[in-house]
Amino acid sequence: MKLRLTIAAALLLLGSLTAADTKPIRVAMIFDDGPHAEQTAKLLALFAEEKVHVTFGTVGKNAEKHPGLLQQVVAAGHEIANHSYSHLHPQKLDASAVDAEVLDGQQKITAAAGVAPVWYWPPFIAIDDQVRASVAKAGLKIYSPRKLVASGDYMNDVDAAELLRRATTGIVDGTVILFHEWRAETFAQMKAIIAELKRQGCVFVTYSEMEAQLGR
Ligand SMILES: [Zn+2]
Repeated sequence: MKLRLTIAAALLLLGSLTAADTKPIRVAMIFDDGPHAEQTAKLLALFAEEKVHVTFGTVGKNAEKHPGLLQQVVAAGHEIANHSYSHLHPQKLDASAVDAEVLDGQQKITAAAGVAPVWYWPPFIAIDDQVRASVAKAGLKIYSPRKLVASGDYMNDVDAAELLRRATTGIVDGTVILFHEWRAETFAQMKAIIAELKRQGCVFVTYSEMEAQLGR
């Protein structure tokens, strides 16, 4: 009996030491290109079950098509960002067209969601001076992750196992992990991805929460 108590006490002590010594690794998962007719609701159900909040890089045209899904995203406590109006490559557009992609995206997403995004994330992560100028003019900011890890889910030759590996490798405090809603394997692997990230000590925050916590 005495020995058992000692072991229990030692385990308790070890537990508290481990908790005190281990800093959480803050990660922001980003899901681009939605809302998506099939995938958004499945992702929302999984995130609710896992108690995880993420950021959705929303496309204005898809927000117009699925306002109800976007409202569910917001109601569940996730963040939405402006991922352009029609997902055109900004470097194929002139200045006024880039302005329009940013402004129309902002207007349609805000109208559908009932809240206004504060972040802009250009399609194809194509950030240049023109995009920066249009985004600043619209009063928005572009994500500037400390570290960006791409799951590679936008490439068909990245299979489910490789997607899981990429999304959970090299994760440090302040990492943004990039996914796409439309890829079926992304949802299929998401439970395993979250479990592995939790095992590594990750906590899940929205992009705005991460920026606020990193104090930039
Ligand atoms: Zn995209």
